Amino acid sequence: MTSLSPSVETYLNTIAGQAVPSRSGEFLETQNPFTGQTWARIPACNGEDVDHAVNAAHKAFSEGEWPALTPTQRGKLLRRLGDLIGENADRLAQLEVQDNGKLIAEMGLQVRYVPEWFYYFGGLADKIEGHVIPVDKPDMFNYTRYEPLGVIGCIIPWNSPLLLLAWKIAPALAAGNTIVVKPSEFASVSTLAIAELFEEAGFPPGVFNTVTGLGADAGGPLVEHPLVRKVAFTGGEMSGQKVYESAARGLKGVTLELGGKSPNIVFEDANLDNAVKGAISGIFAATGQTCIAGSRLLVQKSIVDEFSEKLVDFAKTARIGDPMNEETQVGPVTTRPQFQKVLDYIDVGRSEGAEVLLGGGTPDAPELGDGWFVQPTIFGNVNNQMRIAQEEVFGPVLSIIPFEDDDDAIAIGNDIVYGLAAGVWTQSIPRAFKMSEKLQAGMVWVNTYRAVSYMSPFGGYKRSGLGRESGQEAIYEFLQTKSVWMSLSDKVANPFVLR
Ligand code: NAD
Repeated sequence: MTSLSPSVETYLNTIAGQAVPSRSGEFLETQNPFTGQTWARIPACNGEDVDHAVNAAHKAFSEGEWPALTPTQRGKLLRRLGDLIGENADRLAQLEVQDNGKLIAEMGLQVRYVPEWFYYFGGLADKIEGHVIPVDKPDMFNYTRYEPLGVIGCIIPWNSPLLLLAWKIAPALAAGNTIVVKPSEFASVSTLAIAELFEEAGFPPGVFNTVTGLGADAGGPLVEHPLVRKVAFTGGEMSGQKVYESAARGLKGVTLELGGKSPNIVFEDANLDNAVKGAISGIFAATGQTCIAGSRLLVQKSIVDEFSEKLVDFAKTARIGDPMNEETQVGPVTTRPQFQKVLDYIDVGRSEGAEVLLGGGTPDAPELGDGWFVQPTIFGNVNNQMRIAQEEVFGPVLSIIPFEDDDDAIAIGNDIVYGLAAGVWTQSIPRAFKMSEKLQAGMVWVNTYRAVSYMSPFGGYKRSGLGRESGQEAIYEFLQTKSVWMSLSDKVANPFVLR
């Protein structure tokens, strides 16, 4: 191991309520994307640590306080945790900015919004009602119960760790499960900080456990562990596929929130000033590192030149800089490999013949130091078959694709393996309805972009994923249905025939 500067902070996992290093004693270093420097270290876990955490979660699920709580009591704990996250919002936001380079301007608001998931699902915990089924057998009483699954393995990426963690654990805990979470090796610290709040909120030890480490070393064993009953995964398509294959071998359920290449569609009848802001928020917010990025900007041919010009003018004004500065609008790319990947895709766009309308490289500004910055980049003259139109870049790189009319927009919008989100900019109500119906995407935004809520389902069509997070249906992803039959007769009918 390299020698560490004394300013490097050490974070530990929480397993069974205890702060623990990895069993091997090894650590991974985590860098601040603005400085490129190591600022913290996290335990490098492997299968042995995963086994420890899963056993703790299984014990907490099977015996002691947690399974004895009423759903109302569980809900209260969730709401208390939400309060604590709110009380610690500034600290958590700062940790996140340091670890993954998200803007403090966005994180300050986002961390204050995260408690809503705990309030909402805490409130839902005691409203999960089974049914009495009026079965076709008069001598039988039949009812259903919704029961938790057991240990849930949660695996999250680096781009929005706190939010994506909340989306999984709030419904899973409200349903009565216990958790082992494997955060991204690139941005684990905020998850470790949240883990410290569980005891204070009053959760029994073992209900929430963390294992940090590499995907293959810690994520793989978590998915494979026989006591994990379900895996809730957010990340890239390739890792999602591996997780799905491995979960299938264990015959366990998954929710998969994967990548996207979402069309953001601007019609000639749109309010163009609003649409410009919508296009910007679709691709340059969060430095384009969001699964719902509107990275394919479909613009009606009649306005493509005028709109591209307006967009470039607006994008030029984006303030690139220190994510800790409230005024910054575009921060660094979160990881060094991702930084290189984004630059490689810009080369691909050029070599495919797309025209660079803005950006196209790294900013030449000494105040940005060694940060992993990429200029907001806009490609014009893109056709939907190019790689930069078909593959997820996950960075501040936009492809403008012209279209003729509604049907052409639908055909191009849907001509992609992904189906996470879509945006539509129009002032025509019939067109808004038609597009919302025809676009193959889990979320469609009309005259807005990048809106999410704890109350509204989030998830993908096609290769963007399986299952939904947020909204009432999310809790059912973490429950199983039991059908109970009671005979009301004092006789047992012919035992050789199906009742
Ligand atoms: P990633 O797939 O590389 O990693 C995600 C997580 O999976 C990490 O914790 C990683 O360690 C773990 N992992 C990797 N390989 C694994 C394996 N074989 N078994 C188990 N775990 C494994 O993704 P990333 O680069 O961290 O995040 C970016 C990706 O996430 C993008 O593709 C983005 O679209 C996607 N994403 C999707 C959503 C959504 O809700 N649909 C939200 C955010 C990000």
